[in-house]
Amino acid sequence: MQRTILLVDDEEEILLSLSRLLRREKYNIITATSAADALEKMAENDVQVVVSDQRMPAMTGVQLLIQLKEKYPYAIRIILSGYSDFNAVSEAINSGAVYKFLSKPWDDNVLRAQIQEAFRYQLLFRRKDHLSMAFENTIEGLIITDSEGTIESVNSAFTKITGYKTEEVVGQKSSLLRSNRHSPEFYDEISDSLEKNGQWDGEIWSKRKDGELFPEWRSISAIREVDGKTSHYVSFLVEISNQKEKERQIQYQALHDPLTELPNRKLFLDRLHIAIEQAKRSNYCMAVMFIDLDRFKQINDSLGHDVGDELLKQVANRLAKSVRGEDTISRIGGDEFMLLLARLPGPKAAQSIVKKIKAVFQEVITIGAHELHATLSIGVSIFPKDGSTPEELIKNADTAMYQAKADGRNDYCFYSPDMNQDLTEKLLMKNALYKAMKNEAFLLNYQPQVDLVTGRLMGLEALARWPRPEVGNVPPSRFIPLAEEEGLILEFGKWVLKTACQQIREWQDMGLPKVRVAVNLSARQFEEDDLVDYIMATLKENNLNPGVLEVEVTESLIMRNPAKSASILAKLRGEGIAIALDDFGTGYSSLSYLREFSFDTLKLDRSFIIHMTDNPEDAAIVDTVIQMGMALKQTVLAEGAEEENQITALQAKGCGQVQGYWVSPPLNANDAAAFMKSWEPSTVTNLWSKVEKNS
Ligand code: C2E
Ligand code: MG
Ligand code: MG
Repeated sequence: MQRTILLVDDEEEILLSLSRLLRREKYNIITATSAADALEKMAENDVQVVVSDQRMPAMTGVQLLIQLKEKYPYAIRIILSGYSDFNAVSEAINSGAVYKFLSKPWDDNVLRAQIQEAFRYQLLFRRKDHLSMAFENTIEGLIITDSEGTIESVNSAFTKITGYKTEEVVGQKSSLLRSNRHSPEFYDEISDSLEKNGQWDGEIWSKRKDGELFPEWRSISAIREVDGKTSHYVSFLVEISNQKEKERQIQYQALHDPLTELPNRKLFLDRLHIAIEQAKRSNYCMAVMFIDLDRFKQINDSLGHDVGDELLKQVANRLAKSVRGEDTISRIGGDEFMLLLARLPGPKAAQSIVKKIKAVFQEVITIGAHELHATLSIGVSIFPKDGSTPEELIKNADTAMYQAKADGRNDYCFYSPDMNQDLTEKLLMKNALYKAMKNEAFLLNYQPQVDLVTGRLMGLEALARWPRPEVGNVPPSRFIPLAEEEGLILEFGKWVLKTACQQIREWQDMGLPKVRVAVNLSARQFEEDDLVDYIMATLKENNLNPGVLEVEVTESLIMRNPAKSASILAKLRGEGIAIALDDFGTGYSSLSYLREFSFDTLKLDRSFIIHMTDNPEDAAIVDTVIQMGMALKQTVLAEGAEEENQITALQAKGCGQVQGYWVSPPLNANDAAAFMKSWEPSTVTNLWSKVEKNS
């Protein structure tokens, strides 16, 4: 770096002789003849040493140097003046504005040496200042100790981190920062490493002045003398609390469900793993429960995701209330939860917890204006009986849960090995059902309904069939619930209606007698607002009078939403469509509903007919229903009569109609047409003679 000196004197000769004297040193020499001139030159150049006369007009040398001290603290300021001026300058020397007083006249060699020294001093001064600035301003805390660990200095970052001021720690041992989080061996290892490598760094928990512990990254270096002995230790410390907290958060997020804050699948698996290991060593057993919220999708779709989310949260809370703190509840996705009950005395205990959960969910869940009834399907697997690995236990609990769903929702099921078989079959059937729906691979059969007095053919019930070439026919009692579960029932119901109407049209076009066809409706169809419109449109498309159609509903269907059912049934009736109550006697059989809904036909369930001839109680029920039907002016139709004596018994009791194998099994469309042409009412009326004989 170029060394620059500024010489200030109002006498030109002095400036000249000084310049001449200093030229040998190869300084960059700048001169000024007044204080004002000097200030200007200082501003223009990077001056390290200033030599000024004291007595100058306008401003003295001391006044100038005081100003320079403010503006250029690193410049070394010297007064070169007559000895008589010393008193005027001494105060400025004491205050640090003037570094040196040199007297005129000067000794050339002494002056040159003094100026050289001033430049050296300036360099050192600058360096030291940079260092201490670095020491003070670094964001890392710094501790310098002697070889015994006694603190010699610390910086302000240290104070900020630890709360200790410099004067509180200088002279103290650096071990005052130690927390109780580490063993003495830990600190010994640090000493060993410093001894061997002169260096240690790593994470360490320390204690602040107020006693709070904090994690820091410490890096310690030994400062060694020429003889290799350690004279000092320099420690850098960086607080890593934030980083730790972030790490903790990330870890938390990785293991928890953000919505319910419950452990997620990963954490659940970890805990299950540990629990299995513990259970193996003890005599306890363990249960894994797979819990699925019934109809969650429906709630989500109809009430919105906010309500859905809130419901999940409340379900999580309720589950938490039903188990012990040591059990793990986890949300593993959508509306699925898993529960780990560790340390159970036996499988029975799992059962009582399931019951407890069911009881807790009896209460309605209120979300804003909505009152929801959350029902759960629960599958349970028990360690060690149902598996000894997390995978097996979860899979089997899942299987049991599906079984619980298949058995009717809102129930629970303990795993048993034959469930797997059932489920595989069901899964295969599910896939086949989707395909069949797409290909319209279903058929309708028609079963005749005849009048027991006149023997006339009154109608036909359309019954769905699913022929599967590979496995034979699938009965509707199996595929209809599946279609309901899979949400395919609406589409299916429309297909049935359309097919039945087309068939009626075809038969009418063939000139066959106009008989009524009954179509079964499923509950889901009743939830659709456009059901009546759709039925009417289908009739119209086929140019049919509404009188040719009857719909069959069940009591349980009506009871799901009596008010809505009433309005739909009223609309259908208003359009001239007949309504039959199917399977009567097997459900609620609420007499008040019977009157309120005023069905055209009551279909007395087959279960009463089978035994009516040999079981007086069944006979009494049949009797009562027939009497009631007469009183309400509703036709009573007996389902599933297979024997002649059943027919005559029904005739004797005054039953209106019959549908059953004795008359005919369900027939395909061609056979049904043939039946309509060939049916002889006398087949039934001839029986009257026997009826009379019996009575
Ligand atoms: P359901 O409506 O009560 O139909 C009467 C059932 O009794 C039919 O069974 C019929 O074949 C059977 N059956 C009639 N007479 C006799 C008899 O003398 N002896 C015996 N053992 N059985 C007799 P299927 O066709 O298997 O239908 C079962 C149920 O499936 C029906 O009961 C109905 O609830 C439902 N289903 C059938 N087709 C449809 C449909 O198209 N849509 C809807 N939603 N459900 C349907
Ligand atoms: Mg029916
Ligand atoms: Mg029935």
